Amino acid sequence: MNAFNPARFRAQFPAAIDAGVYLDSAATALRPQAVIEATRQFYSLSAGSVHRSQSAGARRLTARYEAARETVARLIDAPAPETIVWTRGATEAINMVAQCYARPRLRPGDEIIVSVAEHHANLVPWLMVAQQTGARVVKLPLNAHRLPDVEQLPALITPRSRILALGQMSNVTGGCPALGRAVALAHAAEMVVMVDGAQGAVHFPADVQRLDIDFYAFSGHKLYGPTGIGVLYGKPDLLAAMTPWLGGGKMVSEVTFDGFTPRPAPWKLEAGTPNIAGVIGLSAALEWLSGEDIAGGESWSRELATLAEEALAKRPGFRTFRCQEASLLAFEFAGVHHGDLVTLLSEYGITLRAGQHCAQPLLAELGLSGVLRASFAPYNTKSDVDALVDAVDRALELLVE
Ligand code: PMP
Repeated sequence: MNAFNPARFRAQFPAAIDAGVYLDSAATALRPQAVIEATRQFYSLSAGSVHRSQSAGARRLTARYEAARETVARLIDAPAPETIVWTRGATEAINMVAQCYARPRLRPGDEIIVSVAEHHANLVPWLMVAQQTGARVVKLPLNAHRLPDVEQLPALITPRSRILALGQMSNVTGGCPALGRAVALAHAAEMVVMVDGAQGAVHFPADVQRLDIDFYAFSGHKLYGPTGIGVLYGKPDLLAAMTPWLGGGKMVSEVTFDGFTPRPAPWKLEAGTPNIAGVIGLSAALEWLSGEDIAGGESWSRELATLAEEALAKRPGFRTFRCQEASLLAFEFAGVHHGDLVTLLSEYGITLRAGQHCAQPLLAELGLSGVLRASFAPYNTKSDVDALVDAVDRALELLVE
């Protein structure tokens, strides 16, 4: 493995040169050359689809496509490649659990406990399935550190509690709840735990077996891979219990005019021609990442966020919502609208995000109408931090009376 070297890491990302000061990796990461090349090769050199043709090329492609599940399984220490379902992203993975696992099981009055810190992708699917079944969504509130208050679970859990939905890392505060403890408390009540790893997977890929996670979802594009591809991990017995939601080719082993027999998981959950290029690009991203020092890159990203926080904190009115020295820095300046500030920053060549970050309940809890978020990745540099701080100074000069 290569010991982390910021310049060497950055040099592998062509877009790091063109994208200016890119501080929005929590929305979507840049892609390394290895991913671009794997995708280019797929589109320029391969012919045929997967699981559909007897040609040698198509069989090779199918083998590669299936082997990619093993690559994902290694990343999260899943017990078998068949526990990996390809999805369009974390959003689809969570919806799949809500519709294919939870919906047939939930009864009126059952409870789904969801942390208030969740991205809409790990709340709305539960609200939808609650509407469909008569179940109730119960709020797990924040503690004083702005983290989901896992210690309140024993008080919230009732004999009707069925599912706990919790994010590994908040996309606003960067806060990471005590996952192992949450899973243990939920399992003691025989609940099933859905962990949204969309933000966490790139920083600290979860070890799903050690943490005993039931379902884990993430998106390729936040992990240096392509858009439109993601993963649902599920324990084998839970995947086996899921009812397919999309019917069509390749999810069935036998079809008559009157009925069908689904294939086993994961294939029964993957109807239709899949995103082969996405799978190949994601597996290239993970293979490339396995040769990189993820922990070294993570401390570098955190160090940059800390430098930015320390510098910005010297400006009047600065307030941050950053948790646990995260690589995300959510911040605002008193009296300055986040939308005005982000517009000016973008004029000055700084890309970051402002608004509600698809986490309206969390922002309401924090008493915010919107917030800026600078998210740092290992390809960022100290000069990116300086550029952010300079740009903020220029913007504040215009915006503050
Ligand atoms: N959960 C979290 C915490 C996220 O940050 C995101 C993406 N912003 C998602 C879920 C949804 O991911 P996607 O849009 O890739 O499906």
